[in-house]
Amino acid sequence: MFDDDEEYPQQRNELTDKLRELVDGEVKKELGNRHADLVWHQKERSRLSLELSAARLKIRGLENERTKFQKNHTKAVQRELFGGFTVGDVVYYAKPHEVGRIHCNTCNDTRKVNMSLGERTFLKECPDCYSSWYTRTIYEYKPQRDTVTQINTKLWGGGENRELEIYLDRRDGSSKAGTIFLTAEECQVYCDELNKKEQLKRSGQS
Ligand SMILES: [Zn+2]
Repeated sequence: MFDDDEEYPQQRNELTDKLRELVDGEVKKELGNRHADLVWHQKERSRLSLELSAARLKIRGLENERTKFQKNHTKAVQRELFGGFTVGDVVYYAKPHEVGRIHCNTCNDTRKVNMSLGERTFLKECPDCYSSWYTRTIYEYKPQRDTVTQINTKLWGGGENRELEIYLDRRDGSSKAGTIFLTAEECQVYCDELNKKEQLKRSGQS
């Protein structure tokens, strides 16, 4: 009996130790699982957040594209209405540069002549050149780059007739649709036509 009493506590300790070992093992296993779960969730969260920012970036890109498309569409409609032009367009017009004059023998290019009426003498506008100063000046036309700042349009006669006044940034007055161009090359063709007419002024000089 006495021996049994001696044995008993030791057996209990062994049992307790085994139980503790078992529990410890289970706890460690469970903690390990939880930790793995946590790591997986953290990785998943950063992956999703990356995906979210990529999606946001894509949405922003699409919105920009849509805005650009709408702007271009609006401009296309405006060009259809305004003879191929809209505000902000870079255009070219034929700018005249004075290169010579047809000499006036009557006034010697002073545009005034002495007239006498009875005993009185006075200066009068030259009858040969005063009113035709432009046609007696020879110009050379060259394409000049400019920007459209305003377009006025007039429609009348049931919409049959239309007139456009196109204003440019650095040119005085308005330009008509047929006299301004979207490329320097097209404008040069127009300048060449005008310059031929200018040369006819010279040949008519003699
Ligand atoms: Zn004259």
